Amino acid sequence: MTSTIYQHGTLGLLVPGLFTGTITAAELLQHGDTGIGTLEGLNGEVIILDGHAYQAREDGAIREIAATEKLPFASVHFEDDTATTPLTNLTQAAFEQQLLTEHQLQNVFAGVRIDGTFTHIKTRVAPKQVQPYPTLVEATAKQPEFVGDNVTGTIIGYYAPQLFQGATVGGFHLHFLSTDHQLGGHLLGFEIDHADLKLQSFADFQVHLPIDNADYRQTQFDNQTIDSAINTAER
Ligand SMILES: [Zn+2]
Repeated sequence: MTSTIYQHGTLGLLVPGLFTGTITAAELLQHGDTGIGTLEGLNGEVIILDGHAYQAREDGAIREIAATEKLPFASVHFEDDTATTPLTNLTQAAFEQQLLTEHQLQNVFAGVRIDGTFTHIKTRVAPKQVQPYPTLVEATAKQPEFVGDNVTGTIIGYYAPQLFQGATVGGFHLHFLSTDHQLGGHLLGFEIDHADLKLQSFADFQVHLPIDNADYRQTQFDNQTIDSAINTAER
């Protein structure tokens, strides 16, 4: 179980605006205790930690997600008992470079968890959309951003090979949740003061598709549009 990433939906299906929730939080949590995602309506950013799913809302509040709430897209895995590596005084760029070179990640799916204190954190939170849903780029054109200095918390997310851009985000896709639940969201930038890194590599990437959803069945996906939308909306 700990060798597999389970992903519900694709990042690509969010691009034309398929924001309807197609898996419940309860079902998702059967496939992993750690991960990231978004809620129905692109309603905020989801952070899944230690078997609990939290929503960072556009007003800045953090709340635990109920079992019956639905998500259009999420990735989860089960944490294993991998040893942690200490990190000190690292910029985001230095951290990502270090991970890619020292762990030779470029063609690997990896789960990233960093617990510690961050000199700087910058997040954004996707604002809730209503039907008829706009495209991902339209929905994320204006997003509230949140910053904090000397924040204690956890970064959770993934590295995916560029080959899988569209199915998911190629490269790093990280979310953040502070320990006091006062700051969270999709991570735009960070600087590590001191922290512990837990890195899990996955040989298996399981994609679970919403094949009972009529809009999903009917949509014509365009790879180029998806690629450029992900680069605009998810970085
Ligand atoms: Zn995100």
